[in-house]
Amino acid sequence: MKVDDLVSVGEAMHADLGREYYLTGAGLKRDPEFQSIYDRHAELSGDAALDVARESGIDALVEWIVGLRVGRAVAPFEERQLTWEQGATLTVDGREISYLRAPIELRNSPDRAFRLALDRELTRVGTAGLNGLRRDRFALEHEIVGGLGLGSDYVASISALSGIALDALGDAADTLLRQTADLYLDALTRLVRRRLGIRVDELERADTGWVFRAETFDAAFPPDALVATAVRQMGEMGLDATQAGRVKFDTDERSAKQPRAFCAPVHVPREVYLVIRPSGGHTDYRTFWHELGHAMHFAAVDPERPFHERWLGDNSVTEAFAMLWDHLTLHRGWLRRYTDLSGNDVDTLRFELAVSELYMLRRYAAKLRYELAFHRSGLTNGLGAVGAVYAQHLTDATLFRFPEQDHLRDVDPGFYAARYLRAWQLEAALAASLTDRFDEDWYRNPRAGAFIQQFMSRGQADPADRLAAEVTGEALSFAPAVRRVEAVLA
Ligand SMILES: [Zn+2]
Repeated sequence: MKVDDLVSVGEAMHADLGREYYLTGAGLKRDPEFQSIYDRHAELSGDAALDVARESGIDALVEWIVGLRVGRAVAPFEERQLTWEQGATLTVDGREISYLRAPIELRNSPDRAFRLALDRELTRVGTAGLNGLRRDRFALEHEIVGGLGLGSDYVASISALSGIALDALGDAADTLLRQTADLYLDALTRLVRRRLGIRVDELERADTGWVFRAETFDAAFPPDALVATAVRQMGEMGLDATQAGRVKFDTDERSAKQPRAFCAPVHVPREVYLVIRPSGGHTDYRTFWHELGHAMHFAAVDPERPFHERWLGDNSVTEAFAMLWDHLTLHRGWLRRYTDLSGNDVDTLRFELAVSELYMLRRYAAKLRYELAFHRSGLTNGLGAVGAVYAQHLTDATLFRFPEQDHLRDVDPGFYAARYLRAWQLEAALAASLTDRFDEDWYRNPRAGAFIQQFMSRGQADPADRLAAEVTGEALSFAPAVRRVEAVLA
């Protein structure tokens, strides 16, 4: 086997996986067949493939082959989870609610007693149905990664594979949590008093969706204008939102559609799907702009670039492009231009969104710190203790009480939380640089559009830290993200 063989088989497999992911996630196909796709391309998860990747000297290929090996092994668990999620229902107050619909109901329910009951039921049913599956899945992943001799434990192995110093990022996350604690408490207190009329120490995880729901502004964010508004705004930057038709939008309502929006590349750059299940309000816009960022980034890549630069690399980069666009929906000038909100409403909404932004940033910082502890816990022993660590980290950081039982379901495989945190660092630095170069309204400046398109065309050839150094001359840090949120809340 040569590198070229590895890459051509890999490209074919990703096309199959991408299509399967799109069809099952969009609710167009019931039974996922990831396992048989991996089996069809079994040579990619063999030792010969790993040797070829190692000999190529391309780190992204090694990380990819290891990821495939894990992906193939855990595919039965992922499939069972997906099938279970599509079939599970909850009963609250005599009402049947599908498991996948529950997050949308939680976000849209002003009735606190109902929210608390629904979230309790969601936790109970999810714990019973999935926790064992998740535990086995992570234990198997540890076994496979541990067998490769990449580092002393799972955390060290993933640090080595990804090139991300996870403990150092965990320390930075810790500092971020301390630096923004007072600001967050003050802003959240104001918001919660206004929206729920309760004290901060009474908050439950069930309240997160409704506290940040901003439903009074829904009329300014009509679901049927999502695509047209995005096309118009990108057009004003001289960018094509569909990248010459290569991005395909799926906004239809289907009962088996995942509630979480996603982007599924099938061929990079020529066939990319953006799937969203609109549930009303500002969140639809923010989510759509986020997934559009991924979709445009994939669809913009120079087709002549090698496989590992088009498909692989540091996902902090694609997440940063997704965040670059989703943060526009928090921008004063953007809100004035692309919605019909009045000046006062813009300021009120911006305050609420900035609190929500800080909540998310703090939640991910806490998640990384928890996941470092989780992966070092040995998984099979002391799970009760790890559950308590989960609840403590998440509750301390967000000030909403998180349930211990979620400690296995609220874990993103392979430390994806670290990619999000680095994306926040890169995106905020990028946005500050765009403002310096092209002014506050860079989002309607064709020169800024050309600047961004050029970076998108490089795919993920460079990791987030190198890209940040190139654009800003500085190392990645949380400082730009903190400055931005302080400007609204302090
Ligand atoms: Zn994303």
